[in-house]
Amino acid sequence: MAKKKSTAGSKEHVGIPIASGRSLLRPLKAAEVVARDLVSDIASEGLVPGDSLESEAEMLKKYGVSRESLREGLRLLEVQGMINIRRGPGGGPSVGTVDPANLGRMHALFFNLSGATYSELFEAWVFAESALAGFAAANPDDELRRTTMEAFLEEEAHEHEHLDLEQFVEGHESFHSAVAALTGNKVMQLTFRSYGLLVAHHVATVGDPRPIQDALVEDHVRIAKAIAEGDRGESERLMREHLQQVIEINIEQLGDLVSGPVEWL
Ligand SMILES: [Zn+2]
Repeated sequence: MAKKKSTAGSKEHVGIPIASGRSLLRPLKAAEVVARDLVSDIASEGLVPGDSLESEAEMLKKYGVSRESLREGLRLLEVQGMINIRRGPGGGPSVGTVDPANLGRMHALFFNLSGATYSELFEAWVFAESALAGFAAANPDDELRRTTMEAFLEEEAHEHEHLDLEQFVEGHESFHSAVAALTGNKVMQLTFRSYGLLVAHHVATVGDPRPIQDALVEDHVRIAKAIAEGDRGESERLMREHLQQVIEINIEQLGDLVSGPVEWL
């Protein structure tokens, strides 16, 4: 992450004021209408990731918009990872994924322009992730809690020594995403998880959490146990402590940037 050069006399960016929701009832543009209709078709046809979508020519006929609006609409969904577009012969659009990591990137744009800081992001992350752990522990399905957390109860701290950074981050996030899924609340799963994924993305870009990986894996075992046992308070507490450890190392690696705006990477 490059530090911004300060030019003499330049004002510090404190962010654009957060509006009170005036855009709530703004009418959709043609491209957004196409995107909305396509998403609705994906859902009603029960399509899954990887399924092919209609060709551009077929979509032009079906949605009755200009080629420009169709492409813009597809692009809106592609940026969110919700469709993939392979260019060239044999290519075409296909169904993508619903990944909170992409929601995290979108959040980063809003955070950046509003001047929201990494400290604020960390605070929201601890709040969100400990809430997820609490809701996961409160899932009334004992069997589901136990079987989901079982895989993480057996984790050995030293197993992860030889992972590269990407594998490490992926492994780490798979635990948090399993916890989030146990809440049984997709709104929380998507929005609350997006903070952690945003942090992970930025940390993997500027630093390296692997020096404390053994401690992190041991934390996961303790949290998994508390969730499997359905202990809500303990799950929340352990999750909070776990994140504090990660935040400490992040603060060390980010330096002065911690009090600066979240970057849109
Ligand atoms: Zn963790």
